[in-house]
Amino acid sequence: MRVDLSGQVAVVTGVLGRLGGIWADALLGSGAVVVGLDRTTTIPPEFGELLARHPSDRFHLVEADVTETASLRRALETCLVKAGSPTILVNNAGIDQPPAATGGSWHFGDIPADVSEAVLNVNALGVLRVCQVFGPEMVRKGTGSVINIGSLYGSMAPDPRLYEHLPQDPPFLKPPSYGMSKAGAAALTRYLAALWGPQGVRVNTLSPGGVLGGQDPLFRGKFSDRVPLRRMAEATDLTGPLLFLASDMSSYVTGTELLVDGGYVCW
Ligand code: NAD
Repeated sequence: MRVDLSGQVAVVTGVLGRLGGIWADALLGSGAVVVGLDRTTTIPPEFGELLARHPSDRFHLVEADVTETASLRRALETCLVKAGSPTILVNNAGIDQPPAATGGSWHFGDIPADVSEAVLNVNALGVLRVCQVFGPEMVRKGTGSVINIGSLYGSMAPDPRLYEHLPQDPPFLKPPSYGMSKAGAAALTRYLAALWGPQGVRVNTLSPGGVLGGQDPLFRGKFSDRVPLRRMAEATDLTGPLLFLASDMSSYVTGTELLVDGGYVCW
């Protein structure tokens, strides 16, 4: 079934990242105008190739940082002028650790406070800030779908056995603030679904599991063995769930979390 999002204005944060491009491609392909927000407006080559598939007047790239409310307010103004009121909001910007941090190998007690704070600031408080700036415009219009991009790790601990092949002194530890931030964003989903439901704005979490990327082959194999569907997610596994939540196909769905994880949580 083709999803028709013509007439919709979709705001996507962290649009220049791997999944941001996947969301933008799917939304543009369904007819929406996309206003993409990111910390920079320098378009990476792979994103340029993706954009070339769509009419150029339907994509607007705006510089905005989800940790700075003033920049988000400016982005909303630009969105209203260039595209109109947002009707779809994809809170996708996220980090595992701050760009300045290297690696992720540390003993638990040594994980720097600034790493924890930066992750929570972008992944949890960032979603709150974006919703505070863009949400009231959706509520004013009385329609909209907010999709917060969560993670499997918002409800499951990273399995340390997946990293046992890496050097162990210190071991690789995904920062605990990552899962905490995603659980926090899912809590915000439920809060806003309750608050904005009466005004016609739906709010849901879309939580991917492991998505194929630059992972080393050992990790990829071990992760795939851990998943009932026996593989990591491809981009095309994620676009259907996004379009479902963005469109009227999910008109009676709000406050929920859609896990797209190949069944990882089943065992
Ligand atoms: P990515 O690093 O490729 O892209 C993230 C994007 O967010 C980048 O373009 C970055 O510039 C932007 N960003 C970071 N901080 C920002 C800020 N302060 N303000 C504005 N933009 C900012 O990451 P990705 O793999 O595309 O992940 C996207 C989302 O999906 C994240 O929320 C991530 O936690 C979630 N997720 C990813 C996976 C995966 O396997 N890739 C799995 C589960 C969940």
